[in-house]
Amino acid sequence: MNTPGLHPPPSGPTPNAFGIQPAYGAPVAAMSPLLHAPALNMPGSLPGYESIGGYVPPPILPQPAPAPPGPAPENWSIPSLTEEEARAALENFVSAQCCYGSDPAKEGVITNMEPCNTFRYRLETFTESRSSEQARKPHEGEVADFYTQPAPQLWEVQTTPTKLFTDEKKEIRVPFTSTVQDCSDCRTKGKVSCQKCDGKGYRACSPCDGSGRRDDGDCPDCSASGKNRCGSCSGTGQRKCEACDGRGRLLSYIKLKVEWANHVDNHVVQDRSGLKPDDLQSVSGKELFKNSMYMVYPLLGFPDPAISEASERLIREHQSKFAQNSRILQQRQTVELIPVTKVSYQWKGNAYSFTIYGSERKVRADDYPETCVCCVIL
Ligand SMILES: [Zn+2]
Ligand SMILES: [Zn+2]
Ligand SMILES: [Zn+2]
Repeated sequence: MNTPGLHPPPSGPTPNAFGIQPAYGAPVAAMSPLLHAPALNMPGSLPGYESIGGYVPPPILPQPAPAPPGPAPENWSIPSLTEEEARAALENFVSAQCCYGSDPAKEGVITNMEPCNTFRYRLETFTESRSSEQARKPHEGEVADFYTQPAPQLWEVQTTPTKLFTDEKKEIRVPFTSTVQDCSDCRTKGKVSCQKCDGKGYRACSPCDGSGRRDDGDCPDCSASGKNRCGSCSGTGQRKCEACDGRGRLLSYIKLKVEWANHVDNHVVQDRSGLKPDDLQSVSGKELFKNSMYMVYPLLGFPDPAISEASERLIREHQSKFAQNSRILQQRQTVELIPVTKVSYQWKGNAYSFTIYGSERKVRADDYPETCVCCVIL
């Protein structure tokens, strides 16, 4: 494709101010077939923007000094459930099932309550990534500032997320990259021919097929003219040019696309109650520990070594996954204690058990004896 005004840099890709190679992606010329600006106006050879349309890796920053982990939490225990609370949790569970019988929950004799509390570790990594593309919009009086000053590199444009640890996207017009161009769609007129009526302003009347006559006389829909005014252009034959919003001119600029993303990974220490990891992921626990900083450090020496291992592993994984293509802005790690109680009971001479887990006191009761009373009655 031969696009006037868009030319490659004079001598191949030039590393930017940080020594980073320019982003890969489609070359400018291939991205902008509709631009017809004089050669001098285009930022095609702007250092750092030679290849627009790709993701741009962040420059490498010096890392802040490590901070020691916070003090160990004082209260690691949670009060154990009473028998009444355990029975109430089971009764709630049973009443929420479609046709469970409530007798075993009401009459069962609790024989043992075993605490099986466990831990959940969560690592959140909040990242920023940036990419650019050649963009255009209707010219609404913006100043064409291209080359009035050197344009900042993508990672030099100042912007901050609204909230940490929250996904967000933002688009920014990079300063000093804007040029004003004639709109080629309408040749600066701001109007284009109406496609619905081919610019005529009227369309053939459909009930009479454009004849103005029907079997019983003149066509009332078009007063026998055979034509109806084109509703799309109100009979003018022309419509506003959408590319320039009727202004005749376009602003062409480099658009910076910033994306903030929060990446979350959990690790639940497998407990002794036989619950599935999904069960434990679905409930909340008591927060024992939380720290947030630019880069967190593994929780070494945690009472449960599985938490220390998970912390080390996930921090390493996040570092290799997210530090290459994006900039890590903040990390946060949390340890929760998830209450789990395994309850054994007897009903009609047989032994059963159920498990209460999470602050919500969810119940798993796989061997509940009366799971379908209505079917039994039928
Ligand atoms: Zn136009
Ligand atoms: Zn008609
Ligand atoms: Zn029309």
